[in-house]
Amino acid sequence: MDQQKIPQATAKRLPLYYRFINNLHSQGKQRVSSKELSEAVKVDSATIRRDFSYFGALGKKGYGYNVHYLLTFFRKTLDQDETTNVALIGVGNLGTAFLHYNFTKNNNTKIVMAFDSSSDKIGSDIGGVPVYHIDEAEERMKDDVSVAILTVPAQAAQGIADRLIEAGVVGILNFTPARITVPDHIRVHHIDLAVELQALVYFLKHYPLQEGET
Ligand code: ATP
Repeated sequence: MDQQKIPQATAKRLPLYYRFINNLHSQGKQRVSSKELSEAVKVDSATIRRDFSYFGALGKKGYGYNVHYLLTFFRKTLDQDETTNVALIGVGNLGTAFLHYNFTKNNNTKIVMAFDSSSDKIGSDIGGVPVYHIDEAEERMKDDVSVAILTVPAQAAQGIADRLIEAGVVGILNFTPARITVPDHIRVHHIDLAVELQALVYFLKHYPLQEGET
């Protein structure tokens, strides 16, 4: 299967589908209808059918989709067997929560090291993840960490991003409110929790959902 052909919007829904299909599989279910899926993952069934057609999964009327086939496909596509090592920078409140949560339960990513500039944090071990001085980042991350989570204060974000990129990081999940500038080949996903929450409240106020709408 040529993964290039999967549209980005579809690819973004993959982990969502994967998690649900994985649960069905562990419950011993062998098939699932697009309606069931739709209700569980809150994606309309027309979109699900279109997405799944890219995966070569053609549901049969009255039968639905084969759970085992989907699971095998998702595992292969999401490289579930291969773990991506991630570093976290900034062990404050949010960073500490991520270290405790880690992401291994349903996922193929793992925070393997964390960095901070404060002597209170350095040398500790949080949720099984060692915390090192930020000046050791380049040395410790080289070779096997190419993704980083940024939970430092906004004003530190750009400087740290520059250093991480220099050290070989190609993907940054930016939780700081700062917009960071990076070269074209670096992918940054920005999650500003305050903005997301504000947006939700705004939508609730101005675009109330009708009964039955998703
Ligand atoms: P949060 O924003 O996660 O709730 P907080 O309010 O506890 O955290 P912040 O001031 O936002 O603290 O800092 C987050 C963490 O980033 C702290 O542990 C701080 O020591 C660390 N930090 C600050 N500047 C740097 C830097 N330049 N390099 C590495 N770590 C830093």
